[in-house]
Amino acid sequence: MEMITNQMPTAELQALDAAHHVHPFTNQDELTSKGARVIMRAKGVSLFDSEGVEILDAMAGLWCVNIGYGRGELADVAARQMRELPYYNTFFQTTHVPVIALSAKLAELAPGDLNHVFFGGSGSEANDTNLRLVRTYWAEKGKPEKKVVISRKNAYHGSTMAGASLGGMSGMHAQGGLPIPDVHHIDEPNWYAEGGDMSPDEFGLQRAQELEKAILEFGEDRVAAFIAEPIQGAGGVIVAPDTYWPEIQRICDKYEILLIVDEVICGFGRTGNWFGSQTLNIRPDIMTIAKGLSSGYAPIAASILSDEVAAVIGGTEFNHGYTYSGHPVAAAVALENLRILEEEKIVETVREDTGPYLQKKWKALADHPLVGEAKIVGMMGSIALTPNKETRAAFKADVGTIGFKCREHCFANNLIMRHVGDRMVISPPLVITKDEIDTLIERATKALDLTLQQIKDEGL
Ligand code: PLP
Repeated sequence: MEMITNQMPTAELQALDAAHHVHPFTNQDELTSKGARVIMRAKGVSLFDSEGVEILDAMAGLWCVNIGYGRGELADVAARQMRELPYYNTFFQTTHVPVIALSAKLAELAPGDLNHVFFGGSGSEANDTNLRLVRTYWAEKGKPEKKVVISRKNAYHGSTMAGASLGGMSGMHAQGGLPIPDVHHIDEPNWYAEGGDMSPDEFGLQRAQELEKAILEFGEDRVAAFIAEPIQGAGGVIVAPDTYWPEIQRICDKYEILLIVDEVICGFGRTGNWFGSQTLNIRPDIMTIAKGLSSGYAPIAASILSDEVAAVIGGTEFNHGYTYSGHPVAAAVALENLRILEEEKIVETVREDTGPYLQKKWKALADHPLVGEAKIVGMMGSIALTPNKETRAAFKADVGTIGFKCREHCFANNLIMRHVGDRMVISPPLVITKDEIDTLIERATKALDLTLQQIKDEGL
């Protein structure tokens, strides 16, 4: 076989890719006809493709490259750790220094009494862990019938059987016979799409109270936990009305339902604090973390447990673990990433300087004729595309058609924005500068203009 190198022509790389690489969340036939964009290297907020084109990555990969691309310190730490101890497991009463240091650091950073860390390799794995954990917790407390986990429609909690079941994506449930038993979904707090004539505050309260209704319907003695992202990310950066989270917290406290807060996107500075729970004043019993934990430089994730949950679980042998739980190289890389976030005051900068700068410019996009609302917290934002700003109407075309076109215009203009239905979302590296924010907004505005023109030209 011919050597496959960076020098190979793009079309040949694309053909080999389509022939042998099965992509996640991709229509493989389309890939064969269109070819994937081949990304060669990256630096700061920029990707460079196989044609040498520079692309502004307003998604930080998949919401994960918080410290930006190309930080050699992480490569150095990984190489050092690979030489010293490339692998050892943390099963059966063994441990190593990187995992001890990372656990202690996370206990220091996490809010409240979240002091105990169980590691996995991905956010999906961590949520699988959470499902088994909460059921084990209640069984240990003599209530094995408390098994039901309540989640939300349009939530994303991963792609494994438990992750996709906990998630509320109907397209995912349709494949593979999901959800698994004893997972229930209530409606999401998406005022823009579903709030009708209600005020956002009334709607937020009503949607939170769906949790109480579900608990009463199942019976409090059957419900183990509620899981939610502070701000739904993959669902379209849906920011709940202000009334929502205080009511959810009240209900979880009243019925003693464990609250699992999935911080896979919101963690590590994304919302302007270390965790979204701090921004929204939520008190989790268990927190899921991944992505920004290593800024995507190494696959690592975790569940962080409160003192109480850890104490109860500690009463038994939890028959659960992954070969890569607490992987020493990934743990060392994550620690170095946390050092950079802390020493370079990246979270503070998002909260006080570049975050507010981006927010002002992003919110101004609401003046564009195609935009019905612009939402942003910290550095995660969304805009809703609409043919009618007053009524918040949907387009005639199938949901997602216009969003997809807008994404294609972004891509052609060297900006990566994602579309979720007809919402456009951003989540740039947290180190983005004000100049780069200006470029992001310019390119996004151009993509919106081109999309509007296309809608007019094609009568969509
Ligand atoms: N939870 C949330 C909120 C996520 O956004 C994601 C991934 O996007 C996951 C869980 C799953 O993480 P992973 O893709 O690492 O399995």
